[in-house]
Formats: sequence, C-alpha cells, structure tokens
Amino acid sequence: LTQNTTVSELAKKLEVKPNELIKKLMGLGVIATMNQSLSEEEIEVLCGEMGKKVKFKEVTGDDIFEEEEDAPSLLKPRAPVVTIMGHVDHGKTSLLDAVRESDLVSKEHGGITQKMAAYKVQVGKGEIIFIDTPGHAAFTAMRARGAKGADIVILIVAADDGIMPQTVEAIDHAKAAGVPIIIAINKIDKEGSNPEKVKQELTKYSLVPEEWGGRTQVALISAKNRIGIQELLEKVLLEAELLELKTNPDATGFGIVIEGRLEKGKGPVGTVLLQRGSMKVGSPFITNYTYGKVKALIDGHGTRLREVKAIMPIEILGFEEVPNAGDKIKVLGSEKEVKEIAMRRSSDLRRIGQERKKKKMTLEDLHKKIESGAEKKLNLIIKGDGLGSIEALSDALHRVSGESSIEVNIIHKDAGEITETD
Ligand code: GDP
Repeated sequence: LTQNTTVSELAKKLEVKPNELIKKLMGLGVIATMNQSLSEEEIEVLCGEMGKKVKFKEVTGDDIFEEEEDAPSLLKPRAPVVTIMGHVDHGKTSLLDAVRESDLVSKEHGGITQKMAAYKVQVGKGEIIFIDTPGHAAFTAMRARGAKGADIVILIVAADDGIMPQTVEAIDHAKAAGVPIIIAINKIDKEGSNPEKVKQELTKYSLVPEEWGGRTQVALISAKNRIGIQELLEKVLLEAELLELKTNPDATGFGIVIEGRLEKGKGPVGTVLLQRGSMKVGSPFITNYTYGKVKALIDGHGTRLREVKAIMPIEILGFEEVPNAGDKIKVLGSEKEVKEIAMRRSSDLRRIGQERKKKKMTLEDLHKKIESGAEKKLNLIIKGDGLGSIEALSDALHRVSGESSIEVNIIHKDAGEITETD
C-alpha cells in the first residue's frame, strides 16, 4: 500500500465492506469516514486484525531500489567495507591517517590517498574499503534507513583508558547490525597502557579474544607511531574471507551515498559506495530524494575515471541536489525515465512530509500494534542516572517480556543524558 490509503481503498484491498472497517476503527476510538485517509499505524492495526500483512511503498518510484537477486554464476568476490568506531580521543582519526598512508597503490604513485568519506586501500594482495565518517552518526543514519553500512567494524580502544561509554555504544551498534567486530587496542606505546586489562574488560561484552578461546580478533597498535597497522589490516582481510563477500560487477549500478556536500565550482558532490554493477560518465541515476547524470567519477587518488565497477568508493559529480548520507542510488536506462520518476515523486514527497509532521508514535499506538500482532519486538534504549537502577529496570523489563506476547530487546543501556545518537 501507499501511505494515506483511504478507508474505502483499504476495504477494497482487504475484500471487506468499508462499514466493517469503520466499525473496527470506532472500536479503537477513531471516528472515520469512507474517504478519510488512514495513518500507517491505523492501517497496520486494521490489517493485523484481518490477519493480513501490510508493506508500505515509501514514495512513488521507491520500489526501483528493491534489490534484485543475482544468479550465483554472476557473482565475483569483493573487498570488505570497514568502519572504525570507538570513544572520542581513542585514536580513530590517527588510525584512519595511518591506514591511508599504508596504501600500496598510493606509495607507487608517490602520493597519499585523499581524505574522502570512503576510500580503498591495497593491503598485500587484498583490498579494503574504509568508510571515514565522523562518529557513529552516519553508521546509525544508514542503519535507520535500512542500508548496511559496513561488513566489519574495527573497534578502537585506548590501552591507557579502557572501555568508555562510546565504546559500549559502538559495540551495541555493531551487534545490533550483526557486523563482526575486530578490536584494535591503541596507544600501546604509552606509559601506563594496559592491553591485558582492556581484553579482560571486553569479555564482559562477549568479545573474547582468540588467544583465550573466543572468536574475536585483537590487534595491538599504535596509530600515532604506525605500529601494528599492517597486522591489523591483515586481520581484517582474514575476517573478510570468512564472510565470503560477493557482488555482481556487471549489473546496472547500485550503491549508497556515504556523504554529500556542495563544493565551489563543482556543485553537489556525492561520495558513493558502488555496491553492485557498474557506472559510467553519462549514466543517468536516481537517489531517494534527488537525481542526476554522472558528469565525473573521481577515485581516491584524484584520478578521473570513465567507468567504475563494484565494489568501489567513488566521488560523483552531476547530482541535481546534494544527496543525503544513507540514500540509495541507482543507474537507470534513460534520462527520460529518471525525470519521470523524479517528477511524480516530488509531489508525493511534499504530501508525505506534511503528513509525517503531524504524526508521532504514542504508547497507545504501540499498545494497539502489540495487541493486533503487528509488532512483536520492542527495541529499547535505557538511560538512567546510575548503573544500578538501569540494571534493575532492564532486569524487570526482561522478566515482563518473558510473560507477555512481546519480546523486549534492549539495544543499548548507559548512564547519562539522552543524546542525539540515542
Ligand atoms: P579520535 O578522537 O578517536 O579521532 O582520536 P585522535 O586520532 O584524534 O587521537 C586523540 C589523541 O590521541 C591525539 O592527540 C593523538 O595524537 C593521540 N594518539 C592517537 N594514537 C596514539 C598512539 O598510538 N599513541 C599515543 N601516545 N597517542 C596517540
């Protein structure tokens, strides 16, 4: 269904009389007429009661982003996509610098890989793509939009500081996304550094080092002094091998926007991770909120390319407007097709934008959803002023969850203020 389906449209789809729906709505305390458009929640509850599942088409044309399955014979091995997370000042930036510097291709070119939101480095015979975005925000934004940002997370922990709140947050994010974690214990050169203590602390989060019989790889590094970087990257390649990552480099291009910005003289620029297929200069494309035609493709060494194949991080010029991080991007057959979809969509977006502003999920809505069976899992973040009360509360919630029809899933708990990343 599309959003804003009316009572009579929904009745037709469900093959019932509109009056029946109106009665059910009354039971829920909603007075509706035949031609009234229903909210997503109301539609879900009604469909749940009828034993039907409902899926919403976000916006006209969004179904073009639905992923196609590739025949196994078309799939080729691909490089892993990695993101570095960790507490502030534990060394993310220094490690990313060290990684860029380590790139073999750059060394041959006599330069250093450019600071891009996503770039590829050559490690021995393998390649790794790094996503370099500030903090966890981009990772979270991408996940919220249903895009898988990374295959592997490198969790950096300073050996002189140990596990800190953002370390825990990163662990929770990675776990919720089902992404394997490799630990980089940093600042081992520093006096007072204690890598063994960090390893010990990590076991509390079910991250048990291989040397202790677990399956978490741990590397000891100094990002600043460039110690252990090569070993860390080799561990990433090893982990990636287990994942057997593959893509079809010959399909029509498809990827996600890692970062968008406006650049003087260039216009809107998007750093894109091309995940599947190929893309050429001149390719017409569409994203969730904008569209364009590829004017230039620029790689991590500043080289302009005519064509790129997945998997590849690339800077694209030619967007109509600045794209958002996490947006999907897809190459289409013709400019005409792109323009048609874009036109239809802009009016839809405006209407849905206005509807959205009015809506908020309330506890009552949630209760209705649970009762109707439309919602089976309740994801929660617990914040409080002390660890004791947080533990008590989460224990209590787990107990309630065991007795009720809904599964409580605590994705993150921590002491302190509620922050934007929460
Ligand atoms: P970020 O906030 O996680 O990006 O951390 P930075 O990379 O900016 O590093 C924070 C501080 O730690 C900087 O002053 C770095 O110079 C320092 N630092 C990073 N790595 C190391 C290291 O291996 N050893 C030492 N002694 N200092 C480091």
